[in-house]
Amino acid sequence: MSLSELLVLGQGSDLASERGVSCTGELPPSSDPHLVERAIAAKAALGSRALILGHHYQRDEVIQFADITGDSFKLAQAAADQSSAEFIFFCGVHFMAESADILTSPKQRVILPDLAAGCSMADMATANQVNQCWQELEKLGVASRTVPVTYMNSSAAIKSFTGEHGGTICTSSNAQKTLEWAFAKGEKVLFLPDQHLGRNTAVLSLGLSLDDCVLWNPWKPMGGLTENQILGAKMILWRGHCSVHGRFTRESIQEVRTRIPGVQVITHPECQHEVVVDSDVVGSTERIIQAVSSSPAGSKWAIGTELNLVSRLAQNNPDKEIVFLDKTVCYCSTMNRIDLPHLVWAMESIVAGHVVNEIKVDERVAKYSKLALDQMLAL
Ligand code: SF4
Repeated sequence: MSLSELLVLGQGSDLASERGVSCTGELPPSSDPHLVERAIAAKAALGSRALILGHHYQRDEVIQFADITGDSFKLAQAAADQSSAEFIFFCGVHFMAESADILTSPKQRVILPDLAAGCSMADMATANQVNQCWQELEKLGVASRTVPVTYMNSSAAIKSFTGEHGGTICTSSNAQKTLEWAFAKGEKVLFLPDQHLGRNTAVLSLGLSLDDCVLWNPWKPMGGLTENQILGAKMILWRGHCSVHGRFTRESIQEVRTRIPGVQVITHPECQHEVVVDSDVVGSTERIIQAVSSSPAGSKWAIGTELNLVSRLAQNNPDKEIVFLDKTVCYCSTMNRIDLPHLVWAMESIVAGHVVNEIKVDERVAKYSKLALDQMLAL
């Protein structure tokens, strides 16, 4: 186990880890009653030099200042499409800011207001582990027939591995399209790092069977698999998952159906397979927003995704009954590290001429990551 794997969230110093580091400098206290005015003033002072991107799972106090809101795919496109803003404040998590840095011009600078805003799923696949897996596939003679497909929710190092080995990035919006592309190119897919998105898409969208999928455990020799299991598999799924979406269970679906007759259950494909199978609708964050917003007044929805988004959907659709699928609170704790004090601090620092929390991806890593990201954007 390497040192970075032992770091506690927000402590220590390892920029290579999604767990990040603590921020330097004086942050305004969250009790400061002038935070909103300070944010308005700093944003006005930066003017067109700044663009604030806000992921749907962000807190309301941050989202109110976002110029563009979206899921990771929409925000990656937004970062790629715009070339004027000098500073992009990425109110999301570390891997999203890395992708924005890769997709924007060298003149543009990407700022992550809190460096400790990482992603537990992205941390479940390290470059060493993935390289080791690939070497095992090479020894078995199947690497040349295997196409890596990597979920957006991964470090730049894993995206770079994907680009270097002829693969593509995918998101929950385009996972089916990317898997179809990969199977037209090779016989097997190595799907990183979210096992659930890989399995759900392969089985429910491509018609593969559960037996076509095997699970690669990076902590075990040969991924914990036999040679025959690897040779016979079509999908080699990495053993990673989202700590938020992984919480929803079949039992929570049964419970809400009993409690709210006529309720429709809508879940994200990062949920476990059995949860997705028992749902009425499955879709990316953008699809969930679209399905709920366009449904007729009086519709009843139980939503299985991050709680900030579900609360916002409930506020914005008062004519519908919208409940959270799980009874226990389920925020993305790392995404929620970005709060108004961090955004104010980052913007005010730049107004004062100090660039803080810049996310800069190594040139070689950026080159191959961009190959894989461009492949996705071209599909
Ligand atoms: S919701 Fe899950 S996948 Fe998304 S940033 Fe949080 S931990 Fe990562």
